[in-house]
Amino acid sequence: MGRKILKIKILHIIIKFIWSFELIKIVKKKIAVGGISTECSTYSPLYQNEKDFESLQKKELLDLIEFPFENYNIEICPIFFNRSVPGGPIETSYFIKVKDDFIKQLQVICPLDGVLLIMHGAMYVPNINDPEGEWISSVREIVGKDCIISVSFDLHGQITNKIIKNIDAFAAFRTAPHIDVSRTYKRASQMLVNALTTGVRPTVLWSAIPVLVSGEMSSTLVEPCKSIYASLDKIDERKGVLDSNLMIGYVWADTERATAAAVVTCSNTNTGADACREIANLYWNSREKLKLDMKSGDIYSAISCLPNTFSIMADSGDNPTAGGVGDRADVLEIILKENIQNVLFAGIASTSAYNQFLNQKKFTIGGNLGGGGPSLELVADDVFFKEGCAIVSIQNIKLVIPKYRRPFHYLSDFEKLNLNLRDFNLLVVKSGYLSPDLQKLSVPSFMLLTKGAANQNLQKIENKNRKKPIFPFQNFNEFVPKVSNGSNTN
Ligand SMILES: [Zn+2]
Repeated sequence: MGRKILKIKILHIIIKFIWSFELIKIVKKKIAVGGISTECSTYSPLYQNEKDFESLQKKELLDLIEFPFENYNIEICPIFFNRSVPGGPIETSYFIKVKDDFIKQLQVICPLDGVLLIMHGAMYVPNINDPEGEWISSVREIVGKDCIISVSFDLHGQITNKIIKNIDAFAAFRTAPHIDVSRTYKRASQMLVNALTTGVRPTVLWSAIPVLVSGEMSSTLVEPCKSIYASLDKIDERKGVLDSNLMIGYVWADTERATAAAVVTCSNTNTGADACREIANLYWNSREKLKLDMKSGDIYSAISCLPNTFSIMADSGDNPTAGGVGDRADVLEIILKENIQNVLFAGIASTSAYNQFLNQKKFTIGGNLGGGGPSLELVADDVFFKEGCAIVSIQNIKLVIPKYRRPFHYLSDFEKLNLNLRDFNLLVVKSGYLSPDLQKLSVPSFMLLTKGAANQNLQKIENKNRKKPIFPFQNFNEFVPKVSNGSNTN
C-alpha cells in the first residue's frame, strides 16, 4: 500500500514537472534585436556603402544591448546592427540590400513577440524619402500587427508618421554629447519587456517642432537644453507617461522630413498628448536661446586669443562624426603659414598620403575626398606609423594622418599613438562640441567656424527641400503643436 502511494506521488511529481516545463515553453516569449545607425550629410560627396559599415552580430550585439532578457523568460535572437562613422548619403543599392537582408533574417525566426530596433534616425538615401520609416514598416509587415516593436534612436534622428505608426515604444538619447547610449537601450528594452510581461500595449505620440539647429547649438550641457532635458525625467513620472523625448533632428540633411520633434510613449493617450505639447512648446519657446556652447569664430580670431597654456581648437565644419569628409586642410594651411608652434593636429585622413610615406617624405594632403579645401604639397621632417596612422613631424607640428577617415575623441586615441598631450601647446581636432574625454580636460577651447559638410553657419547652407517655415532658416512667431499617433493628428 505504502509503495503504491509512493509510486503515485512520484508519478504526480513527474507530471507536475512536465506540465511546468510545457508551461514555460508556452509563456516563453521570443524577440529579435538589430538595426542600422548613421548620420548622412547631404552636403558631403562621400557616399557610404558596405565598406563603411561595421556589423555587430551575435554575442557582440547582445553585449552592446546588455539587458537581462532571460530574467523575464524572454529568448533574444540577434540579427545584426550595422553602424558607420557619419558621412554622406548611403548608396541606394546598399540600403536596399542591407534592409532586405535584415528582413529575410527576421522572416526565418518568426513568429516573434517583440522586436528591439537600434536606429540612429538620420540616414539619407537618394530616392528614398524616409529610410528609417521604410526599414521599420518593412519589419512591421513581416512580424505582424500583434508584435511589440520598441525602438531606440539618437536625439539627432528624424521622426515621421511612417515611423510612429509602426512602433509601440520609443526612447532616444537625452544627452549631447551622448553619454547615455546604453541607458537608452535599457529604456527601450525595459518598455518592450513590460509590454510583453503585462500584456499592456503602449502608444507612441509625436509632435513636429519647426526648429532645426546643430547639435552644438543644442548641447545638453548648457541652457536651454540642459533644463529641458532635465524636465523629461519629471514628465516620465506622470501616470500614463512611459518615456518622453525631445528630438533635435539633423540639420545637415536638406530633406523634407528634417525637423525637431517631441515623442512620447504612453499608456494614456490624453496624458501622453499633453506631455507632447508641453515638450514641443518648451523647445519652441527656447529657440532664440539656442547658441553654440563654446567660444567660436574664424581661425584668425582663435589664433589672436591663443593662451600660453594648453588649449583645444575644434575644426567644426569638417567634423567626421557629424558627416564632414575629414580631409579638409584649411586650418592646417593657416597654422603652417602663421608658424604656430607645438601643435598636435589630429587628424587629416588620406590613404594616398599614408601610402606616399612608405617610400618618401614628400606628401600631398587635403582636398582629395571631394569635400573641398586646399591641397597642400609638404615635406615631412620625420614619420612613424602606428594604429593605421602616419604621425608626421613638420615645422614643430605633429600631424596625424589616418589612412581612413575617423575622429580622435578619446584620450586613449592619443595614448595608442604614443602621443602625450602634455608635450603640446595646442590640440586641433576635427570636432563640433568637444567629446566628453576632451571636455574633462577643462582647458581653454575654441570652435572654429570652418567650411565643410557640417558647416555651423546655418545661414550659409543650401536650403531647398526643408519644410517652410522652419527656424532659424525662416523667422516666424506662430506655432501650435499638433499631436499625432502616426495616423491621426489633433
Ligand atoms: Zn547624435
